[in-house]
Amino acid sequence: MNTIQSIRGMHDILPDQTPMWQWLESRLRETFGAYDFREIRVPVLEKAEVFKRSIGEATDVVEKEMYAFEDRNGDLLSLRPEGTAGVVRAAIQHGLLQTPGTKVWYQGPMFRHERPQKGRQRQFHQFGAEVFGLDVPAADAELIALGERLWRELGLSGRIRLEINTLGDREDRQRYRRKLIEYLEPRREQLDADSQRRLETNPLRIFDSKSETTREIMADAPRLADELGDSARAHFSELRTLLDALGIEYRLNTGLVRGLDYYCRTVFEWVTDDLGAQGTVCAGGRYNDLVAMQGGRDTPGIGFALGVERLLSLLESVGASRRQQPHVFIVSRVEPADMLRLAETLRDAAPGLRLACALGGGSMRAQFKRADRSGARWCVILGEAEFERGEAAIKDLRAEQGDQESVAIDELPGRLATFLADDLGD
Ligand code: ATP
Ligand code: MG
Repeated sequence: MNTIQSIRGMHDILPDQTPMWQWLESRLRETFGAYDFREIRVPVLEKAEVFKRSIGEATDVVEKEMYAFEDRNGDLLSLRPEGTAGVVRAAIQHGLLQTPGTKVWYQGPMFRHERPQKGRQRQFHQFGAEVFGLDVPAADAELIALGERLWRELGLSGRIRLEINTLGDREDRQRYRRKLIEYLEPRREQLDADSQRRLETNPLRIFDSKSETTREIMADAPRLADELGDSARAHFSELRTLLDALGIEYRLNTGLVRGLDYYCRTVFEWVTDDLGAQGTVCAGGRYNDLVAMQGGRDTPGIGFALGVERLLSLLESVGASRRQQPHVFIVSRVEPADMLRLAETLRDAAPGLRLACALGGGSMRAQFKRADRSGARWCVILGEAEFERGEAAIKDLRAEQGDQESVAIDELPGRLATFLADDLGD
């Protein structure tokens, strides 16, 4: 019979890979904690309406990438393509927006029906952060500082650079939209097919086109920066002052538009040159209209989401790696009950200990082979005669032709704890 394969673009994360995932997840949790964010967990399925209303009908994500389907009740549901819309839905539903300055983070799988390629899966993972109820530039600056700190913690300083832009307020964008259409209309025939279509639906997105000719045309297009109202302009300039004060370097990229409709004012991306075409590791921006678009009371917000797989590729490219192996491996010629009881005593005595036993038994030679393959540093040897005398042996598997040391079984937990003092802290 044929074996069944996973869905294209949806990957298993295997035991060799999870240690690195877990390490990264811990660093992320710590960093969010350092800025007083608390975790929120929302379902991966929502009413499709949640995303259509916030991300926008005329965006790639909603138009082409959403996994939307009717469930058995005939309700139109969607696997979440991103985190913010669902978090906003939950924040409104549970009244989390009463106090200004609510800070939450989330993590988990997101789903987009895109063409799978390097840095692009159909199920991928994001960590994200959202700040509600604050429209001051200090909130934007703090969120960016969090990112900068994160890259530092991960050993990626210098590998990820910051690009920022402002999209102004809604009225600014409407004014600008008219100007942009005016500029593009006479050049319509030169635009790629997608961009021609966007000319009606979402002209700002044409800045994201990958077509060379379209990009050349856009290079001379009028700039949103010239249409900004006073208050959006002041917000952006204050943000830049704050970033300078924090010593955070950035590049102003006036072509940065972001793919979701809900953004306004500040948008930013953290980008790397080390991953080829899919170089955006983390992206975010302000969404002052989003809560109202979802039916909540007018509440400003700002947030970002980072792509875990891309971040992991980047970490791999700088040689970061994590492994998980037992600290101790027990080989044994004694009764399974005696071995298992001793193993439990050792686990009681040493919190954090990773202990494996040669459960399958077999010859000492075969068991030692398994001990070696396990990657354990220490091997505990339970010989029949020695066990009768109340003794066991400890062997350092990394030592050249290591001697084994005899110890009384009563002293075994204490001895192991001493040997492992450095390792158990991890
Ligand atoms: P892109 O321009 O690469 O398509 P996007 O604007 O669609 O990105 P966002 O919706 O802002 O991406 O998502 C934030 C981050 O999530 C991205 O910067 C990226 O790191 C990651 N990401 C987005 N889509 C995918 C995907 N299909 N596979 C893997 N990671 C993704
Ligand atoms: Mg995309």
